[in-house]
Amino acid sequence: MEYLIKNDQCIYNMNSDNEPVLKVPSGSQVIFETSDCFQGQIRDEKQSIDALDWERINPATGPLYIEGAEPGDVLKVEILEIEVNKHGIMAAIPDAGLLGEQVEHSLIKIIPVKDGQIIFNEQIHLPLNPMIGVIGVAPREGSIPCGTPDHHGGNMDNSRIKQGSTLYLPVMVPGALLAMGDLHALMGDGEIMVTGVEIGGKVRVLVEVIGAAVWGRISLTNPLLEDSDYLYTIASDADLLSAIKVATADMQKIIIERRGLSFNEAGMLLSAVGDVQICQVVDPKLTVRLAFPKKYL
Ligand code: CA
Ligand code: ZN
Repeated sequence: MEYLIKNDQCIYNMNSDNEPVLKVPSGSQVIFETSDCFQGQIRDEKQSIDALDWERINPATGPLYIEGAEPGDVLKVEILEIEVNKHGIMAAIPDAGLLGEQVEHSLIKIIPVKDGQIIFNEQIHLPLNPMIGVIGVAPREGSIPCGTPDHHGGNMDNSRIKQGSTLYLPVMVPGALLAMGDLHALMGDGEIMVTGVEIGGKVRVLVEVIGAAVWGRISLTNPLLEDSDYLYTIASDADLLSAIKVATADMQKIIIERRGLSFNEAGMLLSAVGDVQICQVVDPKLTVRLAFPKKYL
């Protein structure tokens, strides 16, 4: 049985009070239809950015209640397929992003997606490489805007969260309350102008509740990701170096657990073949990932 959640069933904050829009057994396939991060408010390049309803930014479709998920469990989310719409949106906004101080006037660009290509302009065509910007569960306490990344996931803007990868999220409330949105047809690491190629679409996932241990971690405190070749620890913090330290320490623990190496040797192996990579540096917290080849685990 395959389930569908439409994009009008969405939240702007992740918290334990959100009413689930659907309850499914562990092991279900679910399609999340998602809006772009502007919730479809931009339809014309001549529109004013200032006139947007900023309360309706970064909607996440959901939340989905997964039966049997309890705090301390891990929610495994296999990203089976991402399908994006025919037009993406980019924006340049004064004071937003790394170049924002030099942006004098805002600019909206509506970008066609055709035959697997992103038509940036007549001369510049880019390869389609869809990813999920916002994906997370409800935090243990408090309410976190969908635009903020943290231990629960959220707006990680991690270009590796895409078709074929598997995300592990720490379950913090009964049912987990999974939600996602903010697809990008393409995004460079860092997302320096605060927008990737923002786009609506559909994501088909397989959700499964698994025991607390995954890849040798006794209990997850942050999202963990894997694709065919790499395992990634992920961390978000207001300070980039602090985030890198958390992702590094988490990966080192996994190496110690899996390979039985000493603290120092695990650190050496990490130093030899682990890569510190930037997810994004423009959201309320910055997000990094530590990539480590699975063949050495
Ligand atoms: Ca985002
Ligand atoms: Zn986005």
